[in-house]
Amino acid sequence: MDFVNSFEEALSKGYIKAYFQPLTRAITGKVCGAEALARWDDPELGLIPPGDFIGQLEKHRLIHKLDLAMLENVCRFYQQNDCKDMTFSINLSRVDFVKTDMFQEINKILSKYDVPVKTIHLEITESTMLTNQEYTRKLFDQFKDAGFSVWMDDFGSGYSSMNVLKDYKFDMLKIDRSLLTKFDLRSKKIISSIVNMAKALGIHTLSEGVETEEQLSYLRNIGCEVIQGYYFAKPMCEDDFLAYLETHKVETESDFDFWNDAGKVNFLSGDPLMASNDLANSDEMLGTAPLALIEYFNGLITYPYLNTAYIKEISKLGYYSTEQIEHDINDEHYVYRDLFMRQIENTIHRGSIQKTDNIMNEVVYSFSTKLVASNGDRHLIATTVRVIDSERSDYMVLKYSQSLYATYDLVTKITPDKDSAVQIYSNAGFSKIYGTASLSRGITEFAATEVHPDDRDRYLAFFDLATLNERVIHFIQQSFRVRNGDDYTMKNIRISKLENGNYLYTIQSY
Ligand code: C2E
Ligand code: MG
Ligand code: MG
Repeated sequence: MDFVNSFEEALSKGYIKAYFQPLTRAITGKVCGAEALARWDDPELGLIPPGDFIGQLEKHRLIHKLDLAMLENVCRFYQQNDCKDMTFSINLSRVDFVKTDMFQEINKILSKYDVPVKTIHLEITESTMLTNQEYTRKLFDQFKDAGFSVWMDDFGSGYSSMNVLKDYKFDMLKIDRSLLTKFDLRSKKIISSIVNMAKALGIHTLSEGVETEEQLSYLRNIGCEVIQGYYFAKPMCEDDFLAYLETHKVETESDFDFWNDAGKVNFLSGDPLMASNDLANSDEMLGTAPLALIEYFNGLITYPYLNTAYIKEISKLGYYSTEQIEHDINDEHYVYRDLFMRQIENTIHRGSIQKTDNIMNEVVYSFSTKLVASNGDRHLIATTVRVIDSERSDYMVLKYSQSLYATYDLVTKITPDKDSAVQIYSNAGFSKIYGTASLSRGITEFAATEVHPDDRDRYLAFFDLATLNERVIHFIQQSFRVRNGDDYTMKNIRISKLENGNYLYTIQSY
């Protein structure tokens, strides 16, 4: 078929249409955009793929008309279907950058349909950047300055992808599907290196041509943000795409910004909480640091992402699944909830990385958190966890107790069955050690010397070792007046159940 001579007619008769292929956010599974792909629907020949006619249109300098027609299609679709949250990417040809003033032409269409600039993403391949470089640079800068998001298409398919990346600040790298076709160890390493590099440069990543569950879960685990491919959907005609949008969740605009910020976290980094700006200045290599993302919204904690290393760490604390952690942490009676929530609140309000060292089920672990995105009272926190070697735990407890229990006056592990107590931390106000030799003696001594006379009986009843086991399900707590120099101050005293007949006894100021 002579595409060149039939082109104008086909265009005017509406034979050339945009097909839409959804882009899916790897972490949430929500639709976060769509790519418009040209299809020539000939009444006699049927559906002709772009590979058949694009070359000829480029050769005859007609391709810009196709690209603008696709944009017009997208804009009309946007206007007619009231999909204000959707974003669309269109493909621009190398030849578009030769003569036509694409910047002006594109803006004309956007104003005609009243479509905001941020709705449209422009896909350009490396070959574009290498032809007519001076003019290309000018156009690229014009688009970027006007607020367009400019994506690099087919990354890794050509010879000079790296060079182009060095010179142009793209918003998104679309990893070419040829890298995924043979999905073996080597290809996985290349892909994870690309993702790692993109994060270091502050560029978002998308994988094209994702067809299998295995590819999806690998890409998700290494932090590739967006997925396009037959696994989710093939390019669809308008009606099918509309039906798809009816049955699939679409990201709202604020969702989009939220997860876009989250995308800056490098899941592969040895120090994943490092800001992408800092990363650019470090020689960080691929690592296997534990990383999870915690979402805090409406008082509820969820874990949208945990990498394999994180799961391995928390299994040492007795956790094996996201559901299990979410269940416990959202339970008001969960013994470690207060400590956890305090750290979350601090992370949100202080803005800096928060690190605490804690004990859970007799395992010492350190827990770091950093706020990566906020939208009103919805927050996303990146976190790492490291269990501290059990052989070294005593040493570590001492070493870390200072920061761990900074908010406590006293922390003691007690074992009623053995009548023993081990003081883990005490601040200056409690320099004297109670109950090291005998727990029961420690209790009476403490009551006699530290507790306000009017509170003594209640304190001794609270601490009644004979009934402790039946009274404490998760923890018990009461307030007592405790000596503070010559005076008394109200303190919160808590006994929390640990494993194996152990309890944690803590005194906390208000
Ligand atoms: P592209 O921009 O890289 O588009 C992605 C191509 O990969 C599309 O092919 C899409 O159908 C295909 N694809 C998506 N997911 C999968 C998958 O899971 N498996 C496989 N095997 N393929 C998948 P399509 O539509 O044939 O387009 C081919 C190329 O033609 C596009 O590659 C783009 O470079 C170009 N093109 C398409 N429409 C236009 C257009 O309007 N203007 C310009 N200048 N180029 C266009
Ligand atoms: Mg493309
Ligand atoms: Mg591509």
